Amino acid sequence: MNNEILVAENVTKIYGIDTKNPVTALSDVSLTMYESDFICVMGPSGSGKSTFINNLSTIDIPTKGKVFINGQEVRTMGENEVGKFRYENLGFIFQEFNLLESLTIFENIAVPLTLSHVPLEEVKQRVQVIAKKLGVDELLDKYPSECSGGQRQRASIARALVTNPKLIVADEPTGNLDSKNSHDLLELFKRLNEEEGVSILMVTHDSMIASYSQKLLYIKDGQIAETIERKDLTQKEYFYKIVDVNSTESQKLFID
Ligand code: ADP
Repeated sequence: MNNEILVAENVTKIYGIDTKNPVTALSDVSLTMYESDFICVMGPSGSGKSTFINNLSTIDIPTKGKVFINGQEVRTMGENEVGKFRYENLGFIFQEFNLLESLTIFENIAVPLTLSHVPLEEVKQRVQVIAKKLGVDELLDKYPSECSGGQRQRASIARALVTNPKLIVADEPTGNLDSKNSHDLLELFKRLNEEEGVSILMVTHDSMIASYSQKLLYIKDGQIAETIERKDLTQKEYFYKIVDVNSTESQKLFID
């Protein structure tokens, strides 16, 4: 059995808890993620997917419950410590690439290392290695505005991976990509997952993208309503199972 990388115990998130209209966006959710897990999160709009991923990955702190990453309880860390912990342990990939326009691609990719005070020679070497892996090594002197959408996304992924995180957290990472770039990104995730044992927790609304994962969590009304494991299914068989869950769950919305 692989090591536990992320443990969430009875996590609840209530927005506006001190107001007249509190919203329970996540309700008593538990999850154990092991090294090399590739988990995908789906569910209707407003079901709590972003809240789930944010509260499990240090971006937000749950109202109730505990989250441990690499054995460390997130709530017990101070603000500075969480920031450092994030750079050292997690790689975030979002729909918006969030590159800093005033920095070159090299400088953007180097940000997490610079913030961790890694010596310049090592920064140069590590940026080169990851940039080559993502095919952006020719773009290092360019600014984001001089790059295409796919190139910008690859640069933002290089920035997420330059610290060699054990866990990648991705919220709709293909939201702004065309289908070729989306599949290239998922092939990269698959390679990192299978060959380097990187764990991935990803939100998507696209069943085809979800079919690259090994496990699907279907979130409904702030809870994990269904879990599907790929096991020995082919990607195509798993894809059809994912489509089926989405369509069955959508139909229930009509009946309810
Ligand atoms: P999803 O990602 O599945 O679309 P979210 O996690 O964004 O769902 O939202 C879950 C629920 O929590 C929704 O009802 C949403 O309106 C509510 N919500 C999300 N963020 C906030 C917030 N900052 N303040 C108040 N309510 C919020």
